[in-house]
Amino acid sequence: MSENLTKTTYITLDIDWACDEVITDTLDLLDSLDLPATIFITHDTPLLKRMRKNPRIELGIHPNFCPLLQGRSVLPDYHAVIHELITLVPEAICARSHALVDASPILVAFAGQGFRLDMNMFVPFSSGICLTTFKHYSGLTRAPYFYEDDAYCFETDKRTPEAHLLEASGSLQVFNFHPIHLYLNTETMTRYERARPYFQDFPNLEQFVNQDPENGARAFLNRLVNCARTNGYTFGKASDLL
Ligand SMILES: [Zn+2]
Repeated sequence: MSENLTKTTYITLDIDWACDEVITDTLDLLDSLDLPATIFITHDTPLLKRMRKNPRIELGIHPNFCPLLQGRSVLPDYHAVIHELITLVPEAICARSHALVDASPILVAFAGQGFRLDMNMFVPFSSGICLTTFKHYSGLTRAPYFYEDDAYCFETDKRTPEAHLLEASGSLQVFNFHPIHLYLNTETMTRYERARPYFQDFPNLEQFVNQDPENGARAFLNRLVNCARTNGYTFGKASDLL
């Protein structure tokens, strides 16, 4: 693995149908931190225009195959699910499925539609596995990621953002966040579930925000960026991995 890769860190986001105010909060946060990011899109929003204007941001797709699995899809098959998002984000070359729904036919379909990189593999830092990108037979490059804000809530022995960065220096380091968790500064899924009825009711969402500046998804990102900048890490976009 190159020295360049070991000193580069990647921030990704799955927007997961967040309301525009919550997405705006994330975009403002990225701006304030001067942070590049790869944003995986689930739905149409006027904020796509703001994202596209920002050279530090690239867009990927976040297709939701769960309704197909649950027999409640209005779309006929996985090709249609992918196609719907391609229509919205035709420039995307990166994909990550919602809920990490993964299958060889899905990867082959991504590749067949011009995608070049997928991020469907979550391998947590706690696994101790040193990560790298690799080629899939479909032609896709697979880039596993090792931090996810919601999964982190379930970790019994939580490692700090600083540990993620400094103790995995030989590993590919991709961190994934969700706008709702950044907004709520989620530290437990109980908080998230309590706030759920207000996800599309922004004025009433604020009361659920975790105010702890040291613990929570937003705190994790802030600490991560501080530590990265102090230690000479740079931030890249997922497509830089190609
Ligand atoms: Zn998702």
